[in-house]
Amino acid sequence: MTPMTETLVHALFAWFQKEKRFMPWREEDDPYKIWVSEIMLQQTQVETVIPYYHRWIKKFPTLNDVALASLQDILKQWEGLGYYTRAKNLHKGAQYVMQELQGKLPQSREALRKIPGIGDYTSAAIASIAFDEPCGVVDGNTSRVISRLFRIGDTLTSLRFKKHVAQEVTDSLKWGSPRWINQAWMELGALICTPNPSCQKCPLHEYCESWQYNCISSYPVKPMKKRIPHRKGAIFIIKNAQKEILLVQRRETGLLPGLWELPNTFYDEQPLSDFIMVNDLTLDRSYVNKAEHTYSHFKVIYELFDATLQSNWWNDYWISFQWVPQNELTAYPRPKVHIKAMKIAGLLS
Ligand code: SF4
Repeated sequence: MTPMTETLVHALFAWFQKEKRFMPWREEDDPYKIWVSEIMLQQTQVETVIPYYHRWIKKFPTLNDVALASLQDILKQWEGLGYYTRAKNLHKGAQYVMQELQGKLPQSREALRKIPGIGDYTSAAIASIAFDEPCGVVDGNTSRVISRLFRIGDTLTSLRFKKHVAQEVTDSLKWGSPRWINQAWMELGALICTPNPSCQKCPLHEYCESWQYNCISSYPVKPMKKRIPHRKGAIFIIKNAQKEILLVQRRETGLLPGLWELPNTFYDEQPLSDFIMVNDLTLDRSYVNKAEHTYSHFKVIYELFDATLQSNWWNDYWISFQWVPQNELTAYPRPKVHIKAMKIAGLLS
């Protein structure tokens, strides 16, 4: 027995109908476009996603266009959006659907989950939004709202917590269209029940236990925060006699798969002196500014050096390399921190 009630859900839905934001994918029934939007929205704000979504759909209007594209083209369209494994998995998933499922996305959550790159969250989102299947979506927004509404005391990351939230949201779907009720929960979390919520404006405050007991800041219960490690290293700007810049390509597995970057090292893996010696480099100058970026599990801080190669480039840590004219650097999909490094070094405006 859950505390979810029909009147609560109607209050939520009435608010959503009035206040929902315009999002291009909300007008869509095409499951492919809903899939793209859901993948882009993971860890990323709606305003950031909208221009990427438009560019993506223009470049790849159908799932088949994604499947036929090269990984380089896929990564280029994704450049700057971060979490590149999402793009790689979307590419793999599209190829799987074209080859194994005759190009047709299945309509049930269970079948969707078998597609590479489609997990618990995405399968529930596509099945409910595209096909109206009554499966509750558990994301950061729904988790925050439901945990405060019903004072769920389990830790946010625990399986029990996720099951509880899924159960509550799924229960709410019987009083309306799963497509819209799921989105209403997510929208309430994005606009009203934010980390610093606007409870006075909330359509649900008369139902909300943590509002009534004045303990909103206790929910959701977060796991103990670990300080993320800082990794220090160096990025090298290496030019040949034609003033072309050396770019190297990352492996297609692991962090930032397949992206092109400036040669670099982490000091905890290979100290500066070792990297210079092994790669036959001389350092010409260093830059005052550092290139920094925070990933989910660590922060990188790179010093920047202009360097000269004393012999031919060879380093099998990267799968490929290319000498690139300065005005063609933007044609390569690059990690954000390397774009920052290129700007610091005056290679990009
Ligand atoms: S009353 Fe406040 S805490 Fe409760 S659901 Fe609404 S915004 Fe969230």
